[in-house]
Amino acid sequence: MQQPVKATDVGRVRDHNEDACLVAPVPGGLVLAVADGMGGHAAGEVASGLAIEGLQRAVDRIRGPGAALGILQDEVERAHQAIRAAAQGEREGMGCTLTVAALWPGQVEILQIGDSRAYCYDDTGLVQLTEDDSLVGEMVRANILSAAAARHHPARSVLTRALGIGPHADCQAVIRPVADGQLLLLCSDGLTSMLDDAAIAARLAAGGDLEALAQGLVAAANEAGGSDNITVVLAPCRGGGPS
Ligand code: MN
Repeated sequence: MQQPVKATDVGRVRDHNEDACLVAPVPGGLVLAVADGMGGHAAGEVASGLAIEGLQRAVDRIRGPGAALGILQDEVERAHQAIRAAAQGEREGMGCTLTVAALWPGQVEILQIGDSRAYCYDDTGLVQLTEDDSLVGEMVRANILSAAAARHHPARSVLTRALGIGPHADCQAVIRPVADGQLLLLCSDGLTSMLDDAAIAARLAAGGDLEALAQGLVAAANEAGGSDNITVVLAPCRGGGPS
């Protein structure tokens, strides 16, 4: 079983990286996360940093699968309030996306807000597990915009929900079975705005070393323009029941 990996890169256009990510072992499983900050004047990286700090507190509290999702929800809400409290002056309006997964044998539990994504890959293909909290995501779900057109839409980065915006963290929870041979991919929109699902799947189909796959995805997003910060987390899944 390979170890989970993370890769993050500023891209070819931005002057700093407002994405943040986490790969942390917990008893019986893993906590994995991607956060993509927004707000300008370095505020975005403050927001994504506060989100990841909150998850580190959750990691310290998680003792196994049973209560993990509740602990994550609790600490994500605390991080949301910390971002709100810090969003003063030129940091007003800062926030971030957050896609966090607790990966156990046989199951993944995800909390999602914003337009970073979780995918499951296996030899049958790539399946997006999360819904984008974005204007174009809502248009795609309403069948008034294609996924391909969404990737080039001028309003593609407009979020409908974000951590740190609004009174509470309004996350989706997603719980899915996972099996041996599947890969969990978390990524920021700097990957998915540059590479469509078919291009991502084609790279994952090559298999082999996860570190090389993650670096290869980042490199491919840069070759396609690298217009945003790019973050990729990859972890192998295991089947069976939570122990
Ligand atoms: Mn981004």
